[in-house]
Amino acid sequence: MTTTHSRPTIDEPRVWIGCLACYNDGRLRGDWFSAAEAADVTPRQIHGGRATSHEELWVFDHDNIPVDGEFAPMDATGWAEVYDEVGETQWPAICAWVRSGSYVAQGDTDLPVVSHFEERFRGEWDSFRDYAFELAEDLVMFDGLDDDHTLVRYFNWDSWISDLEGDYVVERAPGGGVYVFAAL
Ligand SMILES: [Zn+2]
Repeated sequence: MTTTHSRPTIDEPRVWIGCLACYNDGRLRGDWFSAAEAADVTPRQIHGGRATSHEELWVFDHDNIPVDGEFAPMDATGWAEVYDEVGETQWPAICAWVRSGSYVAQGDTDLPVVSHFEERFRGEWDSFRDYAFELAEDLVMFDGLDDDHTLVRYFNWDSWISDLEGDYVVERAPGGGVYVFAAL
């Protein structure tokens, strides 16, 4: 055992980096690394600390990164930077935003723009209805009206909420609730 890196924690974006030449020879040689250290992984590390003529490394698998498919180790760096910027707590939310497909990307990459995420993220709720009720309160929609006023009693919540939902992106959250984002 010559690998010296510490194993990435379970919630951070991590990548399985392997040797492309070995892979083409039918051998899976590689290991898990945090996305942050991906760009610094050397072919030597992947080959048990021995010198090797195999130079090309590749991300064959990944966890906690909201895109599908393989990519170059360098590309993991961008995800690590987004993770650092947004923080562990909001990471699942920004991943859901990316998965929704309705998000602002950095240039021609898949990476989300954190400032745009922060502008649009409305939090995690049990359901979109819960968010809508809270919003109605914040907007003091029935300001000055008693609870038994006709407008309040017969207000068509379902219709209002379903119209409102058109202005938002609603994505399932890991805890069973939803993440709510203002639409682009
Ligand atoms: Zn190799």
